[in-house]
Amino acid sequence: PSRIVRSMSLLKSQGYINGKWVPASTGETFAVCNPVNNSIITEVPDMSVEDTTQAIDAAKKAFQRFRTTTAKERSDLLRCWYNLMLQSSEELAEILTKENGKSLAESRAEIKYGNSFVEWFSEESRRINGEVLQAPVRNRKLLILKQPIGVAALITPWNFPHAMITRKAGAAIAAGCTCIIKPSEDTPLTALALGKLAEDAGFPPGVINIVTTSPKNSAVVGKLLCESTDVRALSFTGSTAVGKILYNQCASTVKRIGLELGGNAPFIIFEKANMDLAVAGAMASKFRNTGQTCVSANRFYVHDKRFDEFLQKFKEKISGEIKMGDGSLEGITHGPLIKSSQVETIECLVNDALEKGAKLHCGGKRLDNLGPLFYAPTVLTDVDESMEIYGKEIFGPVAVIHRFKSEEDVVKMANSVPVGLAGYFYSEDLSQIFRVTEKLEVGMIGVNEGIISCAEAAFGGVKESGIGREGSTHGIEDFLDIKYLCIGNV
Ligand code: ADP
Repeated sequence: PSRIVRSMSLLKSQGYINGKWVPASTGETFAVCNPVNNSIITEVPDMSVEDTTQAIDAAKKAFQRFRTTTAKERSDLLRCWYNLMLQSSEELAEILTKENGKSLAESRAEIKYGNSFVEWFSEESRRINGEVLQAPVRNRKLLILKQPIGVAALITPWNFPHAMITRKAGAAIAAGCTCIIKPSEDTPLTALALGKLAEDAGFPPGVINIVTTSPKNSAVVGKLLCESTDVRALSFTGSTAVGKILYNQCASTVKRIGLELGGNAPFIIFEKANMDLAVAGAMASKFRNTGQTCVSANRFYVHDKRFDEFLQKFKEKISGEIKMGDGSLEGITHGPLIKSSQVETIECLVNDALEKGAKLHCGGKRLDNLGPLFYAPTVLTDVDESMEIYGKEIFGPVAVIHRFKSEEDVVKMANSVPVGLAGYFYSEDLSQIFRVTEKLEVGMIGVNEGIISCAEAAFGGVKESGIGREGSTHGIEDFLDIKYLCIGNV
C-alpha cells in the first residue's frame, strides 16, 4: 500500500497563550510519539504552573471583552473556525492518526464528528435565551438572564483528541466564556492544530489558550486549574480515577464541574434480536478506536438460545473485517493501542482469565510483527467473577461474552457496576424495548444501534460515569450562569 504524504503546516511545536505561540517558561519540552512504531513526531513544551498562570491571566483579561460580544458575533467566529476545520479536515486527520495511531478512516470520521460540534454550537449560541416569569404579585417583573460563567478549564484525553476539545470549547465559546485547554500528553498536536485554526479564524488573544504538559506536570497544572479562583468552570473527560481527584480539588472554589468519565457498557442481545444488525453493531461498538472509547461495548450478554449463532458470526466478522496495522496506510482498519501501559493491562487481564479457565476463541496475544503496541482482537467466553476481567472496563480490543436466560437476570447484571455511561441492546420486541430502556442504569442507550454519538445528542453518564451533558442544547449549560432579576414597583 502507498503511504500518503502531505504538507504539515498545522503541525505546531509550541503552546498557545494569549494569542502567541510560546515555549514553556522553563524551556523544557517532551516528545510526542507515533504509537505505531514509537518514532518521535515532534517535541512540545512541557508547561507548568507559571505558564498556566499566564494562560489563566490571559483568559481572565480576554473574558472582560469577550463576555460583551453578541451571540451573533460568537456564532460567526465559531462558523469561521468550523469552515477552516472543514477545509483542513484531511490534514487534521493525518496529524490525529500520527499521534493517536487510529486508522485514517477512523480519524476522518472523528474529524467530521469533532467539526460538527463547532458547527452545532455556532448555531446554538444564538439560542441562549432568558425567561420572563409570571410574578406572584402586581407591579413586579421577574426575569431570568443567562450569562457566561467566566474562564473555563478544559482537560481532555487522548482517545478522541479532536472531538473532546471541540465538544467542550464549542460550547464554552458559544456561551461567551474564554478557555484554557489542557490536552492529553499523548495527543497535544491535534489540540495545537485546532489552536492554529482558531488563530486563523480571528479569535481574539486569550479566548483560547492551550497548555501542553508531560505526565510530570499534568497533576500540578490540573490542581492549579481546579484551585484557581479565576477559573469558574472545569470540564474534564478522562478516567474515573482522575475525575474524582479533580472533583475533590474543585471543592475549595465551588467550581462548576462537568465530568465525562469511564463507562462499562453492557451490550445485550435478546432472544428476539435481528442477529445481523446485532453483530454489525457489536463490531462497531467494540472495536472502534481499537476498543479505546468510553462508550465501547464492554460486557456482551447474549441470550442462551442465540449464543452460538452470535459467537460464530462475530468471530467471522472479526477475521474478515479487521485489518490491524499502520493507520496511515490505506486499507488498515484498526491501529495500535496508545501506550505500553494499556497493552500490559490488557495482556494481564486476558492471561489472568485464561489461567482461571476462560475460553479463548481468537486473539489473546500481542501482534509484535506489526509493532510494539498491537494486541489482537480477542474473544473470551466462560468468564466468571474469580477473574479480574469480569465486570472491568477493558479499553482494548477484547470482547467478553456472557450467556443469560432471563430479562430480569440480564438487567440486574448490566446494572451491577458503579458506572453508567452507554448501554446497547438488540430486540425486535417493542414492549421489551421500553421496559429495558427504563431499567438500565446508564445515561445513553443504543437500541438496535451500536454507534450513537452526534452533536445533537446529550452525551453523558449517570452514577460514577459523570456529571452534566455535552453536545445537544444541554451542552452549553455547564458554561452559563443564571441570574434571576426581580424588578419591583413598576
Ligand atoms: P486516560 O486513561 O484517558 O489517559 P486520564 O484520566 O489519565 O485518562 O487522562 C485524561 C486527562 O487528564 C489527560 O489530559 C491527562 O493529562 C490529565 N490528567 C491525568 N492525571 C491528572 C491529574 N492528576 N490532574 C489533572 N489532570 C490529569
